[in-house]
Amino acid sequence: MRLTLLGTGSASGMPVYGCECDDCRLVRAEPRLRRSPCSALLEIGDRRYLIDAGQTNLAELFPAGSLTAIFLTHFHPDHVQGLFHLRWGRGLTIPVYCPPDSNGCADLYKHPGILAFDPQRKFQKLWLEDLGVTPLPLIHSKPTFGYLFEHAESSLAYLTDTDGLPPDTLDCLRDHGLDLMVIDSSYVPGSGHRGHNDLDTALALDEAIAPGKTVLTHIGHDLDVWLRAHADRLPSRVVVGRDGAVFSFPE
Ligand SMILES: [Zn+2]
Ligand SMILES: [Zn+2]
Ligand SMILES: [Zn+2]
Repeated sequence: MRLTLLGTGSASGMPVYGCECDDCRLVRAEPRLRRSPCSALLEIGDRRYLIDAGQTNLAELFPAGSLTAIFLTHFHPDHVQGLFHLRWGRGLTIPVYCPPDSNGCADLYKHPGILAFDPQRKFQKLWLEDLGVTPLPLIHSKPTFGYLFEHAESSLAYLTDTDGLPPDTLDCLRDHGLDLMVIDSSYVPGSGHRGHNDLDTALALDEAIAPGKTVLTHIGHDLDVWLRAHADRLPSRVVVGRDGAVFSFPE
């Protein structure tokens, strides 16, 4: 099982359009520091599962036939905007596993094109060949699922967008002995509850769940600035996510 972070940014991304702060200037000059819409690719052998579809060049990234399925965490634009182009493809159908959200986003349900939306139920494990996938409810302004992926002896959880975790999701993850946890960490410490974890909340969840490794994602502008000044304050098993970072299991 191999996870590649395609994007690690919040909805505004990094650099922020029009922002002339030192960090945005630095990121404009160093493309490796950019943060694009939060999403990931899970690969098992030749199967490729996209987790969230906020990248707007999906058709270029994934030629027809190269995507096995898509998992959506929720229907906010920064997680689905790439589907508005992809849906008009021809000659194939792509399963899209998603939370049960009757509103979806804009007219995606009305005109799904090649996308076969398949709402899942919380804690109901789905088997895709030898990959077990458990949808985990998160705490956000729309119905949102994190996903627990299990393959062979390895397990990883992808948890965004969320502000804390519901007790039953926390229990499920704590019992699991995760190899990797990718988690929403949008805001600087002390930001309080604004629909996403601030760093304090993300680190408290890391401590409660104790995975092998925790990777921060959905990182907002101000936290990115903060992290550049305080990177040494993170516990050793916590790493700051970067676009393009790859994690393989078994390692
Ligand atoms: Zn800036
Ligand atoms: Zn969201
Ligand atoms: Zn988001």
